[in-house]
Amino acid sequence: ASLHPGLVDVLVIGGGQAGLAAGFYLRRAGLDFAILDAQDQPGGAWRHAWPSLRLFSPAQYSSLPGRPMPATEGYPDATHVTDYLAAYEKRYELPVHRPVHVETVHRDTENLRVETDHGPWTARRVISATGTWWQPYLPHYPGQNAFRGRQLHTTGYHGPHAFHGQRVVVVGGGNSAAQIVADLSADPDIETFWATLRPPRLLPDHVDGRALFEIATRRRAAVLAGTADGGGVADLGDIVAVPPVRAARDRGHLHAHPMFDRLTTTGIAWPDGTRLDCDAIIWCTGFRPALRHLAPLRLREENGHIRISGTHADAEPRLHFIGYGDWTGPGSATLIGSGINARDAVDTIARELGGRPVHHRRP
Ligand code: FAD
Repeated sequence: ASLHPGLVDVLVIGGGQAGLAAGFYLRRAGLDFAILDAQDQPGGAWRHAWPSLRLFSPAQYSSLPGRPMPATEGYPDATHVTDYLAAYEKRYELPVHRPVHVETVHRDTENLRVETDHGPWTARRVISATGTWWQPYLPHYPGQNAFRGRQLHTTGYHGPHAFHGQRVVVVGGGNSAAQIVADLSADPDIETFWATLRPPRLLPDHVDGRALFEIATRRRAAVLAGTADGGGVADLGDIVAVPPVRAARDRGHLHAHPMFDRLTTTGIAWPDGTRLDCDAIIWCTGFRPALRHLAPLRLREENGHIRISGTHADAEPRLHFIGYGDWTGPGSATLIGSGINARDAVDTIARELGGRPVHHRRP
């Protein structure tokens, strides 16, 4: 049966951190809205993280608008975030409907029509906040189908227990790869081999999420002021030295090897003919925005990008994007940054639909 066939001012697709932050501001704006989330429990992508994952900032730097994340000793784990998000949506009585999977979004004269596995919705504005976890990116290497061992993406990693007694190759030069290498290499029964395209660059120990946020804030101010972008955190390094990563480095376990160029039936091989047998390959090769539901709107340009101004699509100003990463706003794919991104989107929508402004802009 259809959950809500009527018209709402704003429909938010996705009930992770970004969708909830949008809900917070939509309440404040006094608009009529609903949040549709594909999962049957709160927490977004955080529900699927591996047990040893630690945030790269202390709790007080990982808060959504309004209610601060409760403090923890050390850096919070994913369960702490999931519990926080569950309490957050309850605290603000956010109208999250789950599990509701959005299949497609269509133009419908004045409004947008959203088709779901629980019937259609109609909305004057849509905010897409579906994250990236659901669209893992896997590069292509010859021999991938011939390899007889196990291959998984970051999204399929649930801890070292599945790899006891094995040799595991971890691919990728970012935070996920480094944290998974740290996790596996702490287990003496696992032989871990790390392969990266470029030598991995660990950020200095003092640069954690707090510092990253400050850099993102400066960058945002520079972008808003129209001055040259003063260079992002990418100039400093790629990997945050969270305590488990630091410990792996100090154990001498954080050595990366040049990337192989093909898979064999039993392992990996390099151009010079060197081979290494392994039991499993974990591809920590990143994510793409999960935007399949928007395909009917045909927003992608020839280069595959969707052009946006502020937070809305140039080719469909009734549609906003939040939380996907620098594409939608500096630092927007972090807990603290998603709040700023959500505020910007809701502020624009509130001004257009006659809601209360949620943000006092500089003149
Ligand atoms: P998600 O959490 O993915 O939520 C999107 C929700 O939308 C999900 O519930 C999903 O089921 C739902 N959805 C998707 N498609 C549909 C659909 N078609 N219909 C209905 N619902 C749909 N950030 C930090 O701030 N600090 C950190 O330390 C940190 N560490 C990270 C470590 C790793 C390994 C990763 C991968 C990310 C990390 N991040 C960190 C980044 C960021 O906080 C997360 O990526 C975050 O989960 C993004 O939130 P979101 O709300 O945009 O998306």
